[in-house]
Amino acid sequence: MEIIDTHAHLDLPDFKGEFERVLKRAKEGDICQIINVGFDLESSSRSVSLAQNNREIFATVGIHPHEAKKWGSEIKNWIIELSDREKVVAIGEIGLDYYRDLSDRQTQREVFSEQIEIAKNLGKPIVIHSRDAQGDVMRILEEHSPELVVLHCFSGDTLMAEWAFEKGYHLSFGGPLTYPRNERLEMAAAIAPEDLIMVETDCPYLSPVPLRGRRNEPSYIRHTLIKLANIRECSVEKMAGITTANARRFFSITNP
Ligand SMILES: [Zn+2]
Repeated sequence: MEIIDTHAHLDLPDFKGEFERVLKRAKEGDICQIINVGFDLESSSRSVSLAQNNREIFATVGIHPHEAKKWGSEIKNWIIELSDREKVVAIGEIGLDYYRDLSDRQTQREVFSEQIEIAKNLGKPIVIHSRDAQGDVMRILEEHSPELVVLHCFSGDTLMAEWAFEKGYHLSFGGPLTYPRNERLEMAAAIAPEDLIMVETDCPYLSPVPLRGRRNEPSYIRHTLIKLANIRECSVEKMAGITTANARRFFSITNP
């Protein structure tokens, strides 16, 4: 079985001193490739280094809505420069977060829009973070209509899921799919077209049940995959095959 964790933050201090062991456990757990996602300039640079130094890791670069207030021509040029490095497979995570509102909303929308345009110009896929901002995320994506989009750790409702499928956008499911009282998510996972589903950990955050509350890591992805297979009434092996093929196609990566 081959699994791809399409959203991890292995560069964070949570993994300090344990990185090699985490990677080893990932390998033992059939995780063959990992997309390490940048959220500011520093983490984007670290993701690029991780990708350079580890065969199985790929990187994305981008400025998260929390960090949007730091945006300016200097950061923009850095992101464009970094995006050209080897094994940088997408722009992200970018989007809107009206839950924590760490940057003002107008700034978030502008920085989101600008980065969509950067990705379009580069012909790169986009990893979207959307929290409590579904309407504006949909509106801005409609406005710019990028082709290659994944809604990471999908948390929207059925309306947003159906809209995404119509646009040919991917949904990536994380630990929350295993949490209780999440009929909306289960519904989205059930109705998703086979070619638009991926899985992720978003580690160190959002560990799946039964490991909820612990620091998450790529090897825990199995629990999310099992839940997804249950919902879609197929084998875990088949689900792994489907989500891995989708991730390789979406991020244009080849077999290890
Ligand atoms: Zn993330």
